[in-house]
Amino acid sequence: MTISRRHMLAAGAAVAAIPSLPTASAFAQQAAPTAPSGQSPGWFRHKVGDITVTAIGDGFVQRPLEGFVRNASVADVQKALTDQGLSPAHIRVPYTSLVVSTGSRVILLDTGNGQFAPGANSGQWMSNFRAAGFTPEAVTDVVISHFHGDHINGLRNKDGEQVFKKAQVLAPEAEWAFWMDDARMNNAPDAMKGAFQNARRVFAPIKDVTRFDWDKEVVPGITSVRADGHSPGHTAFLIASGNARMMYVADITNTPILFARNPEWQVMFDMDAQKAIEARKRILDMASADKIRCAFYHGPFPAVGQVARDGAGYRLDMLPWQDAL
Ligand SMILES: [Zn+2]
Repeated sequence: MTISRRHMLAAGAAVAAIPSLPTASAFAQQAAPTAPSGQSPGWFRHKVGDITVTAIGDGFVQRPLEGFVRNASVADVQKALTDQGLSPAHIRVPYTSLVVSTGSRVILLDTGNGQFAPGANSGQWMSNFRAAGFTPEAVTDVVISHFHGDHINGLRNKDGEQVFKKAQVLAPEAEWAFWMDDARMNNAPDAMKGAFQNARRVFAPIKDVTRFDWDKEVVPGITSVRADGHSPGHTAFLIASGNARMMYVADITNTPILFARNPEWQVMFDMDAQKAIEARKRILDMASADKIRCAFYHGPFPAVGQVARDGAGYRLDMLPWQDAL
């Protein structure tokens, strides 16, 4: 189509009809607009064979760099962040549980912080869980990787109420043996006593906590994998359906942004740093060689992707939307 003189005239008339733009002083008189705050609902669903896995976010906590990595300088940690295009001002540690829907069971892997959020950027777990279409009453099994508060505190509210009332609760035997040992609690440094007491607060009122060893199918389709070091009974889980497999690695890295690329780094929370490094490498080597998708509890949401050996560390390809439901 050629543009006729009639079109041009019509366009000119349209331009003429635009009211005059406000002047700078008119803008200055308006109230400063406030950007909305908060993040998206925070759940993500994908498939592992016939199993549906839903990641449930519980926000994040922000931590200073000082002391976060025991055996790296703040400058080295800052460089690791800026090399990935990230702010070197702080570390953000997200929390991501998994709900595994097998058809006959609704299995929760770690609970998030529940009512014990460590700051204003966390505490959305239950609203995200409900937004993803779940109810606490529908959970058949809660499988725990280890007894640090950010993994178990969702089991019980501040008033003592049990949250997943109909669920069987399963926990690693080695973790139970460590944290429920009264002599060990009494001899622990004061800074650690709270963690022992919290494990009792959460688990003691539950009548039957099912305890499991490593290399066991703890519920259909989910096998416990030895990953001790972060804590004495720390456990990862292999989720399998047909030929499809995924590894929930829990805390073998804290944030994989730092500890997958630098597997020799020691995060301040690892209770036995050397064992934690061994577990990290053993599991990430296996996941790299066998191309097993990994879900990280403290990875950037939705915290699931592929790892691959890359120099002395591991590269992460967090591109799950290709397989999103
Ligand atoms: Zn953790």
